Amino acid sequence: MRIGIGYDVHQLIKNRKLILGGVEIPFHLGLLGHSDADVLTHAICDALLGAVALGDIGTHFPDTDPNYEGMDSQVFLHKIKAIIKEQGYVIENIDSTVVAQRPKLSPYIQQIRSVLAKTLEISESQVSVKATTSEGLGIVGEEKAIVAQAIALIKKY
Ligand code: MG
Repeated sequence: MRIGIGYDVHQLIKNRKLILGGVEIPFHLGLLGHSDADVLTHAICDALLGAVALGDIGTHFPDTDPNYEGMDSQVFLHKIKAIIKEQGYVIENIDSTVVAQRPKLSPYIQQIRSVLAKTLEISESQVSVKATTSEGLGIVGEEKAIVAQAIALIKKY
């Protein structure tokens, strides 16, 4: 078995969609980034790549590549799942936390887990997504950014 950790931060700005775990969430601000800026999916991508020690999402999908502009991050996650498989591993489970002051994410958690599980071709019971605020403190509390952390356990098949 091997384990990997992922962390990501994206800035919240006007006139962008808020996509978390492949789900568009209604909010007056969205995340800035070259792709769809799905901070949760990016953290999960990095956790999986970390588990096989094959770099990070930027190594595989550089933000300087115009092909990835506005890209659905589920495409990245699906490709990384294939990399994991090529290395001879399957995903045991993923756990993650989104740190956002607003919007309230609890109504969307189940849908996010469902989308991520579908992309990764695993069961929803293998994908945990949690949400918390930062109690109004710092860049998250001031609604300037959303942070995500993830951890992934993989095993040889
Ligand atoms: Mg990112």
